Amino acid sequence: MAEQAGNLTFGIIKPDAVRAGRTGAVLQRVLDAGFRLRAMKLIHLTRREAEGFYEVHRERPFFGELTAFMSSGPCVVLALEKEGAVRAWRDLMGATDPAKADEGTLRKEFASSIGENAVHGSDSEENAQIELAYFFSRLEFV
Ligand code: GDP
Repeated sequence: MAEQAGNLTFGIIKPDAVRAGRTGAVLQRVLDAGFRLRAMKLIHLTRREAEGFYEVHRERPFFGELTAFMSSGPCVVLALEKEGAVRAWRDLMGATDPAKADEGTLRKEFASSIGENAVHGSDSEENAQIELAYFFSRLEFV
């Protein structure tokens, strides 16, 4: 993985989008945007696993809501490859609050609120490596 670190990011299709039956539609948008899937799985996070993933947000007022939501149903975790993947995936996702997201972004199309906002993406290459390692073993990368 390390030799391609700059071209990899970590993404989640969150429980709201999976529950709404939009997994396939989001994945199509991912592929159409030129991302290659390097790893992917459907998982249902426990509350504790969601808390571990969002540890940096523990002191934020919405931490309880966020971790309850993220453990409320299955989600799809993704390792995405593209040149400049972190930036490219954040651009495709759009703003955290779908009301502020640009036309053509995933959150504009699939998200319903700032909390239930359809997708996650790492915010730096360093965090991408940490988040990929939280969810995937080396054997799960193709
Ligand atoms: P992101 O990098 O665009 O995902 O945004 P942040 O790192 O700021 O927040 C992480 C996640 O916490 C967001 O994607 C939302 O799911 C959630 N979140 C952020 N702000 C709020 C809020 O005000 N209320 C709730 N319930 N959730 C929020």
